[in-house]
Amino acid sequence: MKFGTKAIHSGVEPDSSTGAIMTPIYQTSTYVQRSPGDHQGYEYSRTHNPTRTALQNNLAALENGKHGICFSSGLGAIDAVIKLFNPGDEIISTSDLYGGTYRLFTKVYEKYGIKFHFVPMTNVDLVAEKINENTKMIWAETPTNPMMNIVDLRALSKLAKGNNLLLGVDNTFASPFLQNPLDLGADIVMHSVTKYLGGHSDVVMGALVVNEDELAQRLIFIQNACGAVPGPQDCFLVLRGIKTLHIRMERHSQNGKTIAAYLKNHPKVEKVYWPGFEDHPNHDIAKSQMRDFGGMISFSLKGNKLEDARKVMESFKLFSLAESLGGVESLCGHPATMTHASIPKEEREKVGLVDSLIRLSVGIEDAEDLKNDLAFALSRI
Ligand SMILES: *Cc1c(COP(=O)(O)O)cnc(C)c1O
Repeated sequence: MKFGTKAIHSGVEPDSSTGAIMTPIYQTSTYVQRSPGDHQGYEYSRTHNPTRTALQNNLAALENGKHGICFSSGLGAIDAVIKLFNPGDEIISTSDLYGGTYRLFTKVYEKYGIKFHFVPMTNVDLVAEKINENTKMIWAETPTNPMMNIVDLRALSKLAKGNNLLLGVDNTFASPFLQNPLDLGADIVMHSVTKYLGGHSDVVMGALVVNEDELAQRLIFIQNACGAVPGPQDCFLVLRGIKTLHIRMERHSQNGKTIAAYLKNHPKVEKVYWPGFEDHPNHDIAKSQMRDFGGMISFSLKGNKLEDARKVMESFKLFSLAESLGGVESLCGHPATMTHASIPKEEREKVGLVDSLIRLSVGIEDAEDLKNDLAFALSRI
C-alpha cells in the first residue's frame, strides 16, 4: 500500500462487536477474565489497550517498521531508549539537538553514569572520532532543530553497523511522510507525536518504531515496566489526525517553499535556514533521503538584535508565538529564549543559534495570508 492508504487504513479494523468504522476509545483500565489467566489478550491498560494497539500498528506501518510503541510524550519515548543502556555506556549525539533531549541526557542520565558526546553530525568523521569500546548508540536528528541541518542517515547507519552500534533517529521534524529512517538503515525511529503526527495541537505523545523483534521486546518491557503510556482518548485523537497526514504534509511543504523564498528575498532578513534551497549545504542529502522539505524554517535578522526579533514576534497576527510545531496553524518561536534556553549561550552561538533567530512552523493556511503577516511584522522593525 502507498502512504496515504496506509495512513487511513493500517492498524484499524471495523470494531468486531458493532462494526464501528472508527476504533472506539477503550476508556478502561482493566479487562474481565473468565478464569484466572483466561482473557482476550488484554489484562491491564498500562500493558495493552485496544485503542493504543491500533495506533501502534498504524505508526509501525507508516515508518515501514514491525513494531510501534507509544509513550505519554516524545521525551518519554527517548527516556525509554536511554533505559536500554547501563552506567559506563556512551552515546554520541548531535550538537544542535532538541533542547529537551539535551536536558534529559545531560541533567538526568549523566547522573546515572551514562556519557554523552555532542558533535556536529553533518560531519560523519567527527562522529567516528568519538567511537570507543563503550559507545552503544548514535542518536541523530534530521532536519535539526532549529538550524535545519541535514544529517546523512545512510552514512551514519554504515558507521553504526560497522561498529556494532544502534542508530536512533528523532524523526519528528520530517514526519513519516517526508522521511523513513528505518529504510535508510536506522534501528530505532522516534517521534514526538505531539507535532506533525497529531497535527492539531491537542495531544502530547511520543512513539518509537523498530523492526528488530528482540529490540522491540526490550522497549515494550520498558514501556510497561516504567509506565509512561498514553491514554486511549489521546490515541484516538492521533489516529484521527494521521488520516490526513499525507495531505497536511504536502501543504506544509508547499507553504514552506513559498515562505522560505519570500524570506530569502526580504531586505531585513540576514539568513534563511530551509533544506529545500539548492544552496543549503546539505541539500543533496536532503533530496536523497526526504520526499519533500517540509514547513520548518528558521531565519535571522540583519543586525542580530534580540529586540528586533521580539518586535517581529509580537507583531504577527497569524504566526502565534508558542512552543511546539507541526500543527495545522502557523506558529513562531524564539529558540534562544524558549526551546533552547537550557543550552548555554556559547554552545548555542557555536551552531548559529543567535539571538535574532526566529523559527517558523508554517501551517496549512493560505500562503498569501502568511506572506502578508510576515511582511507586516518585518515592517515594524
Ligand atoms: C517536541 C520534540 C521532542 C519532545 O517531544 P514531547 O512530545 O514534547 O515530549 C523531541 N524531539 C523533537 C525534535 C521535538 O520537536
